[in-house]
Amino acid sequence: MAKDKKLVEAITSMSEDFAQWYTDVVVKADLIAYSSVKGCMIIKPDGYAIWENIQHELDRRFKETGVQNVYMPMFIPESLLQVEKDHVEGFAPEVAWVTHGGLNELQERLCVRPTSETLFCDFYKDIIQSHRDLPKVYNQWCSVVRWEKETRPFLRSREFLWQEGHTAHATAEEAEERTIQMLNLYADFCEEVLAMPVVRGQKTEKEKFAGAEATYTIEALMHDGKALQSGTSHNFGTNFSKPFGIQYTDKNNQLQYVYQTSWGMTTRLIGAIIMVHGDDSGLVLPPRIAPTQVVVIPIQQRKEGVLEKAAEVSERLGKVARTKLDDSDKSPGWKFSEAEMRGIPVRVELGPKDIEAGKCVLVRRDTREKIECALDDLESVVPALLEQIQKEMFERAKAHRDSHIYDAHNYDEFREIANTKPGFIRAMWCGDVACENKIKEDLAVTSRCMPFNDQEHISDVCACCGKPAKKLVYWGKAY
Ligand SMILES: [Zn+2]
Repeated sequence: MAKDKKLVEAITSMSEDFAQWYTDVVVKADLIAYSSVKGCMIIKPDGYAIWENIQHELDRRFKETGVQNVYMPMFIPESLLQVEKDHVEGFAPEVAWVTHGGLNELQERLCVRPTSETLFCDFYKDIIQSHRDLPKVYNQWCSVVRWEKETRPFLRSREFLWQEGHTAHATAEEAEERTIQMLNLYADFCEEVLAMPVVRGQKTEKEKFAGAEATYTIEALMHDGKALQSGTSHNFGTNFSKPFGIQYTDKNNQLQYVYQTSWGMTTRLIGAIIMVHGDDSGLVLPPRIAPTQVVVIPIQQRKEGVLEKAAEVSERLGKVARTKLDDSDKSPGWKFSEAEMRGIPVRVELGPKDIEAGKCVLVRRDTREKIECALDDLESVVPALLEQIQKEMFERAKAHRDSHIYDAHNYDEFREIANTKPGFIRAMWCGDVACENKIKEDLAVTSRCMPFNDQEHISDVCACCGKPAKKLVYWGKAY
């Protein structure tokens, strides 16, 4: 038992120190290792398998909307990066440069892509000539580099994995439609697959993407009450097509600029899954994203027939769920805590007495509830249980999120909430960046988004300056 205890004691409790808890889970659940390059991480098999599931499911959903995958080079010539002014200003401070090729200094520095708008624009300029060439709905799966000063596994690292979609359209309406379509796709993915409720909305001018006309975002609330931007979709209008000269001839033989969008989701999502669902025993994975959904753990496995039966059960379950058999020579107690640490949604416990009685015990990772199940019923009970867990995990996360949304009607209330209640703060805003800056400076919260579905007027005046209010804004401390 002493050994079993050790695994759980290896992680700091959430209430004691959330940041340390997070780091402990990331390492003890075997998701990452630190690398010799500061600020970069090695994603281990258990971590990468989660990313692969995210990738497969997102990619499937993308393709249903007509997205095609391409691959662009990882280097951007300096002159190309500088074509769009806001864009270069936004990214310059965190760009990594290649100055040499072999022993020779390059005539022009190359930046390692922090994002690929400029490359796609340069490409689209060449391949789009006529209205018949539109729309272009391309996406690439790749890594990008941003030289961040402070890094944390999954949440902020100097190199991270993502997808970036880049589209070109004939009309402004079509571009706006695509921008919103992708944001909704992201939101549905988070809610249906990651069991993570999100607020859909628009970023303020101050918080929008460098070079965008409008940025839309989905914001999730982590267990500690901090927000995490979980996916963004940008409408560029003609902000890039004009400086890059991406034009097409329309049906009347007139030259027109294309309207563009871009949208991305990253390995940050893995950090979000950990911080929305995890507990003091480690990771808790929603079944739809869990690389292993069921682990079969034999009890007294040296007794005759136990391992054989466990293997048989595991094989049967393997046809209806992603199943693993843990037949290692560790103690069952150790295997239980390991399965808990790794967040496997259901474990099946199977000992000699169970086998004799033709049953086994199913244990839910999320609630630890134990359920007796006849061996004959496993193929129907387990998939239904996984679906139930998925649904209840979403409901729990939503209840937690909803109970951490607070309304501030004036600045005193705003200050009081920001200082004492972790969560989202709903407050009216006049639209002036001066108020946004003041709120950030005074209260250390930023505007997360102006929600689409929640634009009720909770007051007529800006909670900061008292002038007439334009928008309801969700505010919060953010990762
Ligand atoms: Zn104001």
